[in-house]
Amino acid sequence: MDRRQFAATLASATAGLALARPLAAQASMPSFAAMPRTSPLLALRRALAPTIDAGRLNARLAELATFGARTDGGVDRVAYSPADLAARAWIEPLLRDAGLTVRRDVAGNLIARREGSDPTRRPIVIGSHIDTVPAGGRYDGTVGVLAAIEVADALRASRTALRHPLEVAIWMNEEGGLVGSRIVAGELQDGDLDAVAVAGVTHREGITRIGGDPSRIHEARWEPGRIAA
Ligand SMILES: [Zn+2]
Repeated sequence: MDRRQFAATLASATAGLALARPLAAQASMPSFAAMPRTSPLLALRRALAPTIDAGRLNARLAELATFGARTDGGVDRVAYSPADLAARAWIEPLLRDAGLTVRRDVAGNLIARREGSDPTRRPIVIGSHIDTVPAGGRYDGTVGVLAAIEVADALRASRTALRHPLEVAIWMNEEGGLVGSRIVAGELQDGDLDAVAVAGVTHREGITRIGGDPSRIHEARWEPGRIAA
């Protein structure tokens, strides 16, 4: 939330407060429980609470659907394709703008992190993928990723501290065999990378294309128990 948005939120909360008073006065039996609803402190707290910007989320879903857009309304954005590469380049700044520190692991997964207030806590991981099956839809995977970015942005804008670190994961080539997530799980062997992906190149070539290093995929593995959830 930038300053202007914050002011708007605060203004609407104040307007809500002004409305809440006559409504409370109209109630035939004003109960004690109803009183905090008119408390300026609660209104302020509500104004400062993390808020999802649904309009922005929708606009981003529409924009992401332009990468590999088909004339029938679907999306063709198989992993390692030019559309996939362009979409990945488009989404990285969104992760940064949401206050996250972005890293691309050697498999090509994008892992964007926000630190927690308690350094002993393990991260909570949210996210999904932005590659699609051939002739795929607009929402599979993309909702998971863009909603996760929206969560991070809402936390940043409201200056909400979480005890746990938060990580937004964008798994690479999820639709072509859960490739990125299986590398992280330690389930893919070096030889598996010679299989040819839907984009017509081997996973080895594809991972190189998206900036990973297929010769070091073992380094992308997460130890069991690395994350909290
Ligand atoms: Zn999916």
